Amino acid sequence: MSDCIFCGVAARDLPATILRDDGEVLAIRDINPQAPTHVLVMPHEHIVSVAELTPAQDGLWGRMLHVAQSIAEDEGIDETGFRLVVNTGHNGGQTVDHLHVHLLGGRRMTWPPG
Ligand code: AMP
Ligand code: ZN
Repeated sequence: MSDCIFCGVAARDLPATILRDDGEVLAIRDINPQAPTHVLVMPHEHIVSVAELTPAQDGLWGRMLHVAQSIAEDEGIDETGFRLVVNTGHNGGQTVDHLHVHLLGGRRMTWPPG
């Protein structure tokens, strides 16, 4: 989608700090980090949100989680713990309508979320 920020990042039309890109799943540092580690894991494919995922995308979703797990190891937060967040839709607080998983870590997270 031409007006989508994350499609632009995936196409290298917009700048980002890219940690991983295997052509299917992309991981970038969040431009406005909310924790010492704040990474976004997303598909190249423009999928709006979890609400639009289909069973055909089960494999993609699994690979996204494994990329998040692997980056948590690289960042040294796999043993101290981390949080994965997938804001979905208006009430979920989603601001970029291209599916992404937030990987947050490096500090103690609180609950409940805001
Ligand atoms: P959400 O609110 O869950 O849709 O998350 C969108 C996230 O994308 C926010 O944490 C933003 O800080 C982040 N973000 C927006 N634009 C960019 C960008 N160009 N590069 C990296 N992160 C971005
Ligand atoms: Zn997109």
